[in-house]
Amino acid sequence: MSTIQPSLITTDLEFDTDGVQYGTLRVPYSHDRSAYGRVPIPAMVAKRGRGPTLLLTGANHGDEYEGPVALMRLMRELPIDELNGRLIVVPALNYPAYLAGTRTSPIDKGNLNRVFPGNRNGTVTEMIAHYVETVLIPLADYAIDFHAGGSSLNYLPTLFVDRPQTLEEADRLERILTAFAPPRAMYWDYLGEDRVLGAAAHRQKTFFMTGEFGGGATVNLEGLEVVRAGIAGVMSALEMLPESTVSRPARTIRRLELTGEHLYLFAPCGGIFEPAFRLGDEVVAGQLAGVIHDPVTPWRDPVPVVFNASGVALCIRTFALVQPGDCLGHLGQDVDALHSTQFPQT
Ligand SMILES: [Zn+2]
Repeated sequence: MSTIQPSLITTDLEFDTDGVQYGTLRVPYSHDRSAYGRVPIPAMVAKRGRGPTLLLTGANHGDEYEGPVALMRLMRELPIDELNGRLIVVPALNYPAYLAGTRTSPIDKGNLNRVFPGNRNGTVTEMIAHYVETVLIPLADYAIDFHAGGSSLNYLPTLFVDRPQTLEEADRLERILTAFAPPRAMYWDYLGEDRVLGAAAHRQKTFFMTGEFGGGATVNLEGLEVVRAGIAGVMSALEMLPESTVSRPARTIRRLELTGEHLYLFAPCGGIFEPAFRLGDEVVAGQLAGVIHDPVTPWRDPVPVVFNASGVALCIRTFALVQPGDCLGHLGQDVDALHSTQFPQT
């Protein structure tokens, strides 16, 4: 008797049927107002030919918008007659959070990108994670999950990629990265997080990219264009669509890495944070990052905060009011040319 039970989420979409289908992923949600209720998450499956499966997701956090806006447009405009492969699009994965305009779900306060691998019998957010981990990711050869800073952070549009472990992985990453052509690409190692969608992809050996394309709960127009052109570029590189007709600026991709928590700034105390840097600034270790004013004793000198490392300010907090431990921003560091081959040499 198998102990593995399938997800309780149902769908009218048939993943193996040719053509374009629009429908919903339906999460059972029995509550006071609706005893047999479902949360209907909009999605699209498009299939034609024998090419690979690409999964594109947005609003894993509900207040991040470049992914959803680009994906809604893709759902409307995909040239199905030219598709080679299978495209699965979910513009707003944490749909309750997306409708509320919040990072976490108003139903269960769930932060979708911190609950993988999820739970079949868990809360709505946990059930979504479990479905992504056990159904969507296993279908996908490639997956891209589009993020932004949400309400509390603002980012320079940056694609996040896994550090390749073999020459083969490095070649594939280079091909896809060049096709996406973001202004910045950053290696990151999840900083120990195994609760994120990328970790789920890792477990299933699905090629995965993510990224931060703006923030402040707005639509960053530069980030939106990076996402839109990036999807078109990747789909042509994977030979899922003919050579991209989307114009992409000829640019050098700035290669960055995020190697640890020392690149983050955290508030040492509560108060009003007055930054001393702007998004995109090049900073050095020891440089003043800002001060925190004490609203209770405003006549006292504010508490200084300094950078622990050098790098480019990729992310800055949007809210001035802080509590101890709040993230004030973080840096990325240029990949050292001497170490730019990020895979074993033997
Ligand atoms: Zn996010």
